[in-house]
Amino acid sequence: MIIGVPREVKTDEYRVAMLPVGVESLVQRGHSVVVETGAGLGSGIADHDYLRAGAEMAASGADVFSQAELIVKVKEPQSDEYPHIRPGQILFTYFHFAASRSLTDAMIESGSTCIAYETLRDEKGRLPLLTPMSEVAGRMSIQEGAKYLEKPQMGRGILLGGVPGVAPAHITILGGGIVGANAARIAAGFQVDVAILDVDLDRLRYLDDVMPANVNTLYSDRHNILEQIERADLVIGSVLIPGAKAPQLVRAEDLKRMKAGSVIIDVAVDQGGCIETSRPTTHSQPTYVIDEVVHYCVANMPGAVGRTSTFALCNATTPWVIRLADLGLDGILSAKSPLRAAINIHAGKVVHPGVASAFDRTC
Ligand code: NAD
Repeated sequence: MIIGVPREVKTDEYRVAMLPVGVESLVQRGHSVVVETGAGLGSGIADHDYLRAGAEMAASGADVFSQAELIVKVKEPQSDEYPHIRPGQILFTYFHFAASRSLTDAMIESGSTCIAYETLRDEKGRLPLLTPMSEVAGRMSIQEGAKYLEKPQMGRGILLGGVPGVAPAHITILGGGIVGANAARIAAGFQVDVAILDVDLDRLRYLDDVMPANVNTLYSDRHNILEQIERADLVIGSVLIPGAKAPQLVRAEDLKRMKAGSVIIDVAVDQGGCIETSRPTTHSQPTYVIDEVVHYCVANMPGAVGRTSTFALCNATTPWVIRLADLGLDGILSAKSPLRAAINIHAGKVVHPGVASAFDRTC
Protein backbone atom coordinates (compact mmCIF):
# COMPACT_ATOMS: atom_id res chain seq x y z
CA MET A 1 0.00 0.00 0.00
CA ILE A 2 1.11 3.61 -0.59
CA ILE A 3 0.92 5.62 2.65
CA GLY A 4 1.03 9.42 2.54
CA VAL A 5 2.10 11.81 5.31
CA PRO A 6 1.25 15.45 4.45
CA ARG A 7 2.59 18.44 6.43
CA GLU A 8 0.00 19.67 8.94
CA VAL A 9 -1.53 22.94 7.77
CA LYS A 10 -3.69 23.90 10.78
CA THR A 11 -2.56 27.10 12.59
CA ASP A 12 -0.16 26.52 15.53
CA GLU A 13 0.14 22.80 14.70
CA TYR A 14 3.72 21.51 14.87
CA ARG A 15 3.13 17.77 15.08
CA VAL A 16 3.65 15.24 12.28
CA ALA A 17 1.82 11.92 11.94
CA MET A 18 4.79 9.59 11.39
CA LEU A 19 8.32 9.17 12.71
CA PRO A 20 11.20 7.89 10.52
CA VAL A 21 11.08 4.63 12.50
CA GLY A 22 7.44 4.19 11.40
CA VAL A 23 8.46 4.75 7.78
CA GLU A 24 11.18 2.12 8.15
CA SER A 25 8.78 -0.47 9.63
CA LEU A 26 6.25 0.07 6.82
CA VAL A 27 8.88 -0.06 4.06
CA GLN A 28 10.31 -3.29 5.53
CA ARG A 29 6.83 -4.82 5.21
CA GLY A 30 6.67 -3.96 1.51
CA HIS A 31 4.70 -0.70 1.70
CA SER A 32 5.74 2.68 0.24
CA VAL A 33 5.64 5.92 2.25
CA VAL A 34 5.40 9.39 0.68
CA VAL A 35 6.19 12.29 3.05
CA GLU A 36 5.68 15.97 2.20
CA THR A 37 8.88 18.03 2.25
CA GLY A 38 9.23 19.81 5.61
CA ALA A 39 6.47 17.76 7.27
CA GLY A 40 8.65 16.92 10.28
CA LEU A 41 10.37 20.27 10.77
CA GLY A 42 7.96 21.53 13.49
CA SER A 43 8.92 18.45 15.53
CA GLY A 44 12.65 18.70 14.79
CA ILE A 45 12.65 15.88 12.19
CA ALA A 46 14.52 16.69 8.95
CA ASP A 47 13.63 15.47 5.45
CA HIS A 48 16.88 13.49 5.28
CA ASP A 49 15.79 11.49 8.37
CA TYR A 50 12.73 10.33 6.43
CA LEU A 51 14.76 9.69 3.26
CA ARG A 52 17.24 7.58 5.21
CA ALA A 53 14.34 5.52 6.60
CA GLY A 54 13.17 4.74 3.05
CA ALA A 55 10.51 7.41 2.41
CA GLU A 56 9.95 9.19 -0.88
CA MET A 57 9.55 12.94 -0.52
CA ALA A 58 6.80 14.91 -2.29
CA ALA A 59 7.00 18.64 -2.94
CA SER A 60 3.43 19.47 -1.85
CA GLY A 61 0.47 18.19 0.12
CA ALA A 62 -1.42 17.85 -3.17
CA ASP A 63 1.29 15.43 -4.43
CA VAL A 64 0.99 13.33 -1.27
CA PHE A 65 -2.81 13.14 -1.54
CA SER A 66 -2.70 12.26 -5.24
CA GLN A 67 -0.32 9.30 -4.73
CA ALA A 68 -1.42 7.78 -1.42
CA GLU A 69 -4.08 5.13 -0.81
CA LEU A 70 -3.87 5.77 2.94
CA ILE A 71 -3.35 9.28 4.35
CA VAL A 72 -2.04 9.48 7.93
CA LYS A 73 -2.43 12.87 9.64
CA VAL A 74 -2.66 14.53 13.05
CA LYS A 75 -5.47 17.11 12.71
CA GLU A 76 -8.72 16.88 10.77
CA PRO A 77 -8.46 17.84 7.06
CA GLN A 78 -8.60 21.60 6.54
CA SER A 79 -10.77 23.15 3.83
CA ASP A 80 -7.73 23.64 1.56
CA GLU A 81 -7.16 19.89 1.70
CA TYR A 82 -10.76 18.82 0.92
CA PRO A 83 -10.40 18.98 -2.90
CA HIS A 84 -7.41 16.57 -2.78
CA ILE A 85 -9.33 13.76 -1.05
CA ARG A 86 -10.79 11.19 -3.42
CA PRO A 87 -13.28 8.30 -3.29
CA GLY A 88 -11.82 5.08 -1.89
CA GLN A 89 -8.93 6.85 -0.14
CA ILE A 90 -8.49 6.01 3.56
CA LEU A 91 -7.84 8.83 6.06
CA PHE A 92 -6.53 8.00 9.54
CA THR A 93 -6.38 11.05 11.86
CA TYR A 94 -8.19 12.98 14.64
CA PHE A 95 -11.52 14.15 13.17
CA HIS A 96 -13.86 15.13 16.07
CA PHE A 97 -16.73 15.11 13.55
CA ALA A 98 -19.40 15.91 16.14
CA ALA A 99 -17.82 19.36 16.51
CA SER A 100 -18.06 20.25 12.79
CA ARG A 101 -20.91 19.74 10.41
CA SER A 102 -18.97 21.30 7.52
CA LEU A 103 -16.11 18.81 7.94
CA THR A 104 -18.61 15.93 8.16
CA ASP A 105 -20.40 17.07 5.00
CA ALA A 106 -17.08 17.51 3.15
CA MET A 107 -15.91 14.00 4.06
CA ILE A 108 -19.29 12.47 3.09
CA GLU A 109 -18.98 14.20 -0.25
CA SER A 110 -15.36 13.06 -0.73
CA GLY A 111 -16.33 9.37 -0.81
CA SER A 112 -13.31 8.54 1.35
CA THR A 113 -13.11 6.22 4.37
CA CYS A 114 -12.45 8.22 7.56
CA ILE A 115 -11.04 6.30 10.53
CA ALA A 116 -10.93 8.55 13.60
CA TYR A 117 -8.17 8.28 16.21
CA GLU A 118 -10.53 9.51 18.93
CA THR A 119 -13.04 6.68 18.41
CA LEU A 120 -10.55 3.82 18.16
CA ARG A 121 -11.09 1.48 21.12
CA ASP A 122 -8.61 -1.32 21.72
CA GLU A 123 -9.60 -4.87 22.69
CA LYS A 124 -9.86 -3.76 26.35
CA GLY A 125 -12.27 -0.93 25.48
CA ARG A 126 -9.70 1.84 26.12
CA LEU A 127 -9.07 4.83 23.81
CA PRO A 128 -5.33 4.35 23.17
CA LEU A 129 -4.97 7.21 20.68
CA LEU A 130 -6.48 9.82 23.05
CA THR A 131 -4.46 8.88 26.12
CA PRO A 132 -1.03 10.17 24.99
CA MET A 133 -2.37 13.69 24.39
CA SER A 134 -4.05 13.72 27.81
CA GLU A 135 -0.73 12.69 29.33
CA VAL A 136 1.00 15.58 27.56
CA ALA A 137 -1.69 18.13 28.51
CA GLY A 138 -1.79 16.97 32.15
CA ARG A 139 1.95 17.26 32.60
CA MET A 140 2.08 20.53 30.68
CA SER A 141 -0.69 22.07 32.83
CA ILE A 142 1.68 22.31 35.80
CA GLN A 143 4.45 23.82 33.66
CA GLU A 144 2.01 26.46 32.33
CA GLY A 145 0.53 27.01 35.80
CA ALA A 146 4.00 27.65 37.22
CA LYS A 147 4.63 30.21 34.47
CA TYR A 148 1.35 32.12 34.88
CA LEU A 149 1.72 32.27 38.68
CA GLU A 150 4.68 34.58 38.06
CA LYS A 151 3.97 38.25 38.71
CA PRO A 152 4.90 39.54 35.22
CA GLN A 153 2.31 37.08 33.81
CA MET A 154 -0.40 38.58 36.10
CA GLY A 155 -0.06 35.75 38.66
CA ARG A 156 0.34 35.93 42.46
CA GLY A 157 4.13 35.82 42.30
CA ILE A 158 4.31 32.33 43.78
CA LEU A 159 7.06 29.74 43.33
CA LEU A 160 5.31 26.36 43.13
CA GLY A 161 7.60 24.50 45.49
CA GLY A 162 8.19 27.36 47.98
CA VAL A 163 11.63 27.49 49.69
CA PRO A 164 12.78 26.53 53.18
CA GLY A 165 10.71 28.70 55.54
CA VAL A 166 8.08 29.59 52.87
CA ALA A 167 5.09 27.33 52.14
CA PRO A 168 4.67 25.74 48.69
CA ALA A 169 1.65 26.47 46.49
CA HIS A 170 -1.63 24.63 46.85
CA ILE A 171 -2.97 23.00 43.68
CA THR A 172 -6.54 21.79 43.24
CA ILE A 173 -7.17 19.30 40.42
CA LEU A 174 -10.80 18.84 39.35
CA GLY A 175 -11.04 15.37 37.75
CA GLY A 176 -8.57 12.57 38.48
CA GLY A 177 -8.45 10.80 35.09
CA ILE A 178 -5.47 10.73 32.73
CA VAL A 179 -4.98 14.53 32.67
CA GLY A 180 -5.54 14.90 36.42
CA ALA A 181 -3.26 12.04 37.43
CA ASN A 182 -0.45 13.27 35.18
CA ALA A 183 -0.82 16.82 36.52
CA ALA A 184 -0.74 15.50 40.10
CA ARG A 185 2.39 13.44 39.53
CA ILE A 186 4.33 16.40 38.12
CA ALA A 187 2.98 18.77 40.80
CA ALA A 188 3.99 16.31 43.51
CA GLY A 189 7.56 16.40 42.19
CA PHE A 190 7.60 20.17 42.79
CA GLN A 191 6.89 19.43 46.50
CA VAL A 192 3.52 21.14 46.09
CA ASP A 193 0.50 20.49 48.26
CA VAL A 194 -2.05 18.82 45.89
CA ALA A 195 -5.71 17.84 46.17
CA ILE A 196 -7.44 15.76 43.44
CA LEU A 197 -11.23 15.77 43.35
CA ASP A 198 -13.29 13.14 41.51
CA VAL A 199 -16.74 11.58 41.75
CA ASP A 200 -15.47 8.07 40.99
CA LEU A 201 -14.64 6.53 44.37
CA ASP A 202 -12.74 3.61 42.82
CA ARG A 203 -10.57 6.06 40.94
CA LEU A 204 -9.95 8.04 44.18
CA ARG A 205 -8.98 4.78 45.95
CA TYR A 206 -6.54 3.98 43.15
CA LEU A 207 -5.02 7.48 43.19
CA ASP A 208 -4.74 7.38 46.96
CA ASP A 209 -2.80 4.12 46.61
CA VAL A 210 -0.33 5.22 43.95
CA MET A 211 0.25 8.93 44.59
CA PRO A 212 2.97 10.35 46.84
CA ALA A 213 2.11 11.65 50.33
CA ASN A 214 1.73 15.29 49.25
CA VAL A 215 -1.26 14.35 47.00
CA ASN A 216 -4.62 14.01 48.79
CA THR A 217 -7.90 12.82 47.30
CA LEU A 218 -11.31 14.38 47.92
CA TYR A 219 -14.83 13.60 46.74
CA SER A 220 -15.94 16.18 44.18
CA ASP A 221 -19.00 17.88 45.70
CA ARG A 222 -19.96 21.54 45.85
CA HIS A 223 -18.69 22.03 49.44
CA ASN A 224 -15.28 20.51 48.81
CA ILE A 225 -14.92 22.40 45.51
CA LEU A 226 -15.63 25.77 47.19
CA GLU A 227 -13.34 25.04 50.12
CA GLN A 228 -10.58 24.02 47.69
CA ILE A 229 -10.77 26.94 45.28
CA GLU A 230 -10.51 29.37 48.22
CA ARG A 231 -7.23 27.69 49.22
CA ALA A 232 -5.82 27.15 45.73
CA ASP A 233 -3.06 29.10 44.02
CA LEU A 234 -3.56 26.95 40.91
CA VAL A 235 -6.71 25.11 39.77
CA ILE A 236 -6.53 22.49 37.01
CA GLY A 237 -9.79 21.65 35.22
CA SER A 238 -9.60 18.05 33.95
CA VAL A 239 -13.11 16.65 34.20
CA LEU A 240 -14.64 14.52 31.45
CA ILE A 241 -18.03 12.94 31.00
CA PRO A 242 -17.48 11.00 27.75
CA GLY A 243 -19.54 12.32 24.87
CA ALA A 244 -21.05 15.17 26.93
CA LYS A 245 -20.25 18.80 27.60
CA ALA A 246 -18.06 19.17 30.72
CA PRO A 247 -20.03 20.02 33.90
CA GLN A 248 -19.38 23.59 35.14
CA LEU A 249 -17.99 22.89 38.60
CA VAL A 250 -16.81 26.46 39.27
CA ARG A 251 -19.42 29.15 38.66
CA ALA A 252 -18.72 32.74 37.60
CA GLU A 253 -19.65 34.07 41.06
CA ASP A 254 -17.21 31.63 42.72
CA LEU A 255 -14.21 33.46 41.27
CA LYS A 256 -14.68 36.20 43.91
CA ARG A 257 -13.78 33.63 46.58
CA MET A 258 -10.44 32.88 44.90
CA LYS A 259 -7.15 34.62 45.73
CA ALA A 260 -6.17 37.56 43.53
CA GLY A 261 -3.54 36.36 41.04
CA SER A 262 -4.48 32.70 41.32
CA VAL A 263 -4.47 30.74 38.06
CA ILE A 264 -6.97 28.39 36.40
CA ILE A 265 -5.73 26.02 33.67
CA ASP A 266 -8.93 24.58 32.18
CA VAL A 267 -7.65 21.64 30.16
CA ALA A 268 -11.24 20.45 29.68
CA VAL A 269 -11.99 23.54 27.57
CA ASP A 270 -12.12 21.36 24.44
CA GLN A 271 -15.33 19.87 25.89
CA GLY A 272 -16.71 23.28 26.88
CA GLY A 273 -14.62 23.68 30.06
CA CYS A 274 -15.44 22.91 33.70
CA ILE A 275 -15.20 26.56 34.79
CA GLU A 276 -18.16 28.77 33.80
CA THR A 277 -15.87 31.65 32.77
CA SER A 278 -13.68 29.52 30.45
CA ARG A 279 -13.57 30.25 26.74
CA PRO A 280 -11.10 28.71 24.27
CA THR A 281 -7.81 30.57 23.79
CA THR A 282 -4.79 30.00 21.51
CA HIS A 283 -1.06 29.59 22.02
CA SER A 284 -0.48 33.09 20.67
CA GLN A 285 -2.88 34.59 23.28
CA PRO A 286 -3.31 31.90 25.93
CA THR A 287 -4.65 33.85 28.94
CA TYR A 288 -7.19 36.44 30.06
CA VAL A 289 -8.12 37.72 33.52
CA ILE A 290 -11.56 37.79 35.16
CA ASP A 291 -12.05 38.95 38.77
CA GLU A 292 -8.22 38.96 39.18
CA VAL A 293 -8.06 35.24 38.34
CA VAL A 294 -5.82 34.31 35.38
CA HIS A 295 -7.56 31.90 32.96
CA TYR A 296 -5.50 29.70 30.59
CA CYS A 297 -7.83 27.78 28.23
CA VAL A 298 -5.79 26.62 25.22
CA ALA A 299 -7.77 23.93 23.40
CA ASN A 300 -4.76 22.25 21.72
CA MET A 301 -2.11 22.33 24.45
CA PRO A 302 0.00 19.44 23.01
CA GLY A 303 0.60 21.46 19.81
CA ALA A 304 3.03 23.75 21.69
CA VAL A 305 5.32 20.87 22.62
CA GLY A 306 5.23 19.43 19.12
CA ARG A 307 8.28 17.24 19.45
CA THR A 308 7.20 15.45 22.62
CA SER A 309 3.63 15.20 21.36
CA THR A 310 4.68 13.81 17.96
CA PHE A 311 6.71 11.04 19.59
CA ALA A 312 3.95 10.31 22.13
CA LEU A 313 1.28 10.20 19.41
CA CYS A 314 3.29 8.11 16.94
CA ASN A 315 4.26 5.59 19.64
CA ALA A 316 0.53 4.94 19.95
CA THR A 317 -0.57 5.26 16.29
CA THR A 318 2.22 3.43 14.41
CA PRO A 319 1.16 -0.15 15.33
CA TRP A 320 -2.36 0.71 14.09
CA VAL A 321 -1.03 2.25 10.84
CA ILE A 322 0.90 -0.97 10.24
CA ARG A 323 -2.22 -3.07 10.90
CA LEU A 324 -4.22 -0.85 8.59
CA ALA A 325 -1.66 -0.99 5.77
CA ASP A 326 -1.25 -4.78 6.07
CA LEU A 327 -5.00 -5.48 6.09
CA GLY A 328 -6.02 -2.91 3.47
CA LEU A 329 -9.55 -1.53 3.31
CA ASP A 330 -11.14 -4.82 2.21
CA GLY A 331 -9.39 -6.66 5.04
CA ILE A 332 -10.65 -4.15 7.60
CA LEU A 333 -14.20 -4.18 6.29
CA SER A 334 -14.38 -7.97 6.38
CA ALA A 335 -12.80 -8.43 9.83
CA LYS A 336 -14.18 -7.66 13.32
CA SER A 337 -11.34 -5.30 14.14
CA PRO A 338 -11.11 -2.17 16.35
CA LEU A 339 -10.14 -0.32 13.16
CA ARG A 340 -13.44 -1.25 11.56
CA ALA A 341 -15.38 0.05 14.57
CA ALA A 342 -13.44 3.33 14.35
CA ILE A 343 -14.65 4.05 10.80
CA ASN A 344 -16.80 7.19 11.09
CA ILE A 345 -17.58 7.83 7.42
CA HIS A 346 -17.37 5.35 4.54
CA ALA A 347 -18.24 5.76 0.86
CA GLY A 348 -20.45 8.80 1.33
CA LYS A 349 -22.22 7.64 4.52
CA VAL A 350 -21.86 8.26 8.25
CA VAL A 351 -21.39 4.78 9.72
CA HIS A 352 -20.51 5.65 13.35
CA PRO A 353 -23.49 5.91 15.75
CA GLY A 354 -21.84 8.72 17.81
CA VAL A 355 -21.34 10.93 14.77
CA ALA A 356 -24.77 10.03 13.40
CA SER A 357 -26.52 11.01 16.64
CA ALA A 358 -24.64 14.33 16.74
CA PHE A 359 -26.33 15.26 13.46
CA ASP A 360 -29.52 13.17 13.75
CA ARG A 361 -28.50 10.99 10.82
CA THR A 362 -29.22 7.30 10.58
CA CYS A 363 -26.36 4.96 9.79
P1 NAD B 1 -10.58 10.93 31.75
O1 NAD B 1 -11.86 10.31 31.31
O2 NAD B 1 -9.37 10.09 31.88
O3 NAD B 1 -10.81 11.65 33.17
C1 NAD B 1 -11.91 12.45 33.48
C2 NAD B 1 -12.21 12.32 34.95
O4 NAD B 1 -13.22 13.28 35.30
C3 NAD B 1 -12.74 10.94 35.35
O5 NAD B 1 -11.92 10.34 36.35
C4 NAD B 1 -14.14 11.24 35.88
O6 NAD B 1 -14.54 10.39 36.95
C5 NAD B 1 -13.96 12.67 36.35
N1 NAD B 1 -15.20 13.39 36.60
C6 NAD B 1 -16.39 13.31 35.96
N2 NAD B 1 -17.29 14.14 36.54
C7 NAD B 1 -16.64 14.77 37.56
C8 NAD B 1 -17.02 15.74 38.53
N3 NAD B 1 -18.27 16.24 38.58
N4 NAD B 1 -16.08 16.16 39.42
C9 NAD B 1 -14.82 15.67 39.38
N5 NAD B 1 -14.41 14.73 38.50
C10 NAD B 1 -15.32 14.30 37.61
O7 NAD B 1 -10.33 12.16 30.76
P2 NAD B 1 -8.91 12.83 30.44
O8 NAD B 1 -8.23 12.05 29.37
O9 NAD B 1 -8.20 13.08 31.72
O10 NAD B 1 -9.37 14.21 29.77
C11 NAD B 1 -9.89 15.28 30.56
C12 NAD B 1 -10.26 16.43 29.63
O11 NAD B 1 -9.08 17.01 29.08
C13 NAD B 1 -11.10 16.01 28.40
O12 NAD B 1 -12.08 16.99 28.16
C14 NAD B 1 -10.09 15.99 27.28
O13 NAD B 1 -10.70 16.16 26.00
C15 NAD B 1 -9.28 17.18 27.69
N6 NAD B 1 -7.99 17.34 26.98
C16 NAD B 1 -7.69 18.61 26.58
C17 NAD B 1 -6.49 18.87 25.95
C18 NAD B 1 -6.16 20.30 25.58
O14 NAD B 1 -5.23 20.51 24.80
N7 NAD B 1 -6.84 21.29 26.11
C19 NAD B 1 -5.57 17.84 25.69
C20 NAD B 1 -5.91 16.54 26.11
C21 NAD B 1 -7.13 16.29 26.76
